Amino acid sequence: MAGVLRALLSASEKAANIARVCRQEGALFQLLIQEKTGADKNKKFTQDFKTLADVIIQEVVRHDVGKQFPELLHAIHGEESNTFENRLGGRVEVQVCSVETDTAALLCSVLDGNEEAAGLLAQTIHQEIELRDPAAERLELAIPTSSMGIWIDPIDSTNQYIKGRGDVDPEKGLYPSGLQSALVLIGVYDRASGEPIMGVINQPFNQCDPGSLRYSGTPSPTNCTVCSEH
Ligand SMILES: [Mg+2]
Repeated sequence: MAGVLRALLSASEKAANIARVCRQEGALFQLLIQEKTGADKNKKFTQDFKTLADVIIQEVVRHDVGKQFPELLHAIHGEESNTFENRLGGRVEVQVCSVETDTAALLCSVLDGNEEAAGLLAQTIHQEIELRDPAAERLELAIPTSSMGIWIDPIDSTNQYIKGRGDVDPEKGLYPSGLQSALVLIGVYDRASGEPIMGVINQPFNQCDPGSLRYSGTPSPTNCTVCSEH
């Protein structure tokens, strides 16, 4: 059981890396924020880019978890479809290719030829990440992987992610808005009953380093209460 949760933790951290790289690397950040000032073409394109970040994250989680657990692949769903159409006429099925350069070329075709942005994304997508958590390693559930379904919300609070305010104070330990309220959510449920089994909440922008102004996150495995009844 720990294997599935370990795969989800690692996938959520890669998702968080993609969310962070879009805000912290100039070539991608420009695409996120240009909307207000850019020309008409840019306005349309940057609107598309926000959706693309969501689509990529969902597809990466699906790919990484499905690679380790092929029996889950057809049961991994989420808020986005992987067919991405931009309003400049580009249409592509977003997928993780077997080599980084192919993924970059695929993304470049919907990033209006922006090779730098496509390369940065492909590099992050193809990075090997393994995250382990002692509590997750100890988890034991008598539920076969083949009866699980997975639901992904690639970036919950996308608008807050785009606005990117880092000065919101928490209320009772929770951020009501701002960059810190953006979360990668991956839930596991029982395919037959729909009951929740377990999940991972990853907060990509948990802490900001005052020197570099770069963020790091804290993923936490979350056992739903239902889980203890199995
Ligand atoms: Mg969302």
